[in-house]
Amino acid sequence: MNDLRTAPHDDAMHDAVVLGAGPAGLAAALALGRTHRDVVVLDSGRYRNDPTDAMHNVLGFDGVAPAEFRAAAHRTLAAYDTVELRRTTALDVAPLDPAAPADGFVVRTEDGDVTARRLLLATGVRDELPGTPGLAELFGTVAAHCPYCHGHEYSGTPVAILGAGPHSPRVAGLMERIASRVVVLADGAEVDPEVRAALDARGVAIRPEKVERLEPLALPGGHPGARAVLAGGAAEELGGVMVAPTLHQAAPFAAQLGLELRKSGCVAVDPTGRTSMPGVLAAGDLAHTADFPMPLASVTAAMAAGQMAAGAVDGDLLGLAH
Ligand SMILES: Cc1cc2nc3c(=O)[nH]c(=O)nc-3n(C[C@H](O)[C@H](O)[C@H](O)COP(=O)(O)OP(=O)(O)OC[C@H]3O[C@@H](n4cnc5c(N)ncnc54)[C@H](O)[C@@H]3O)c2cc1C
Repeated sequence: MNDLRTAPHDDAMHDAVVLGAGPAGLAAALALGRTHRDVVVLDSGRYRNDPTDAMHNVLGFDGVAPAEFRAAAHRTLAAYDTVELRRTTALDVAPLDPAAPADGFVVRTEDGDVTARRLLLATGVRDELPGTPGLAELFGTVAAHCPYCHGHEYSGTPVAILGAGPHSPRVAGLMERIASRVVVLADGAEVDPEVRAALDARGVAIRPEKVERLEPLALPGGHPGARAVLAGGAAEELGGVMVAPTLHQAAPFAAQLGLELRKSGCVAVDPTGRTSMPGVLAAGDLAHTADFPMPLASVTAAMAAGQMAAGAVDGDLLGLAH
C-alpha cells in the first residue's frame, strides 16, 4: 500500500481518529472527508478477507481482489485534504479524561500518539476456524463461511457443510439451488434433533463420521475442490466446503475501554454506531445492533455502517443527538 500518506507524530487535536481501514473505516473516512473533518485513519494492514483473492456480492466490485478494492478506495480518499491514512498499528486507547470521555481520546501507536475528539472503532474481527487439518489452507477459496460471498463459485459441484450446527439448515437451504448435491458432515458430533429434522425435511444427507482431513483436489473440468477424508476411510469429493468460524475481536480496544458487548462478543451499538461510551463509535464486523445475533458481516454492510457512524461523529461534534 504505497499510496498511504504518512505523517510523523503530531500534537494536533484531530476531529476524529478512525481505527481500521477496511471497508468500514474507509467509508467513514470518505464521509468525514466530505464534511472537511480532520480525520486520521490507522491501518495495521491486516484485513478479514485476506485469505481470499476475490470478493463477491459487492456491487461494482464483484470478483475483484480485495487489494484492488482498497487501492480504489485509497485513490478516492486521496482527493480529500483533511483525510490522512497512516500505516501503523494502534496499541492502546484511552479517554483523555476518564470522567469526561467525550472531551477526547488518545491512541498510542507504534509510531507515536494520535489525539482526537472522537474515536471510531473499525478494527473488524478475526476468524477462528474449526481445527480440521487442511481447512485453513482452503479457507477463502474452496472453503468459505458465507454463501453470499462464496457460493455461486461452487455452482454445479457437490458442497459440504462442515458441522451440523444450528446454522446448517439455513446454509443448506441457500446452497441447494447452487450445488449439485449438499451434504452435512457432522464431524463426529451429536446432531441436535431439531437440526436433524430441519435437514431431513430438506432431504439433506448427514454423514456422522469425524472428518480426518481436507485435501485439495482438482474436480473434473479442472474445478478446484477438496476431498474430505472421513474416519473409517470413506471420502467425499467436493467443490466447496461451508464452515462456521468463531468470531473474535481483532483488536483489544473495546475491552480496554470497557465498552458494552453483545452475546456474540461484538460491540453493542445503536443504529448510528454509537457505543456505550460517549464519543466512541464502532462500525463494521466488530459491532452490531440489538436486532441481530451477530454482525451482518459483508463489505457493503461494513461500508454502510462506516458511513452511518461518520454521520454520528459529525452530529456529536455539532452537539446534536442524531
Ligand atoms: C475469507 C473471507 C472472504 C470474504 N469474502 C467476502 C466477500 O466476497 N464479500 C463480502 O461482502 N464480504 C466478504 N467477507 C467479509 C468481509 O471481509 C468483512 O465483512 C469486511 O472486511 C468487514 O470490514 P471491516 O472494515 O469491519 O473490517 P476489516 O476489513 O477486517 O478491516 C479491519 C481494519 O482494522 C485494522 N486494524 C485492526 N487492528 C488494528 C490495530 N491494532 N491498529 C490499526 N489498525 C488495526 C486492519 O488493519 C484493517 O485495516 C469475507 C470474509 C472472509 C473471512
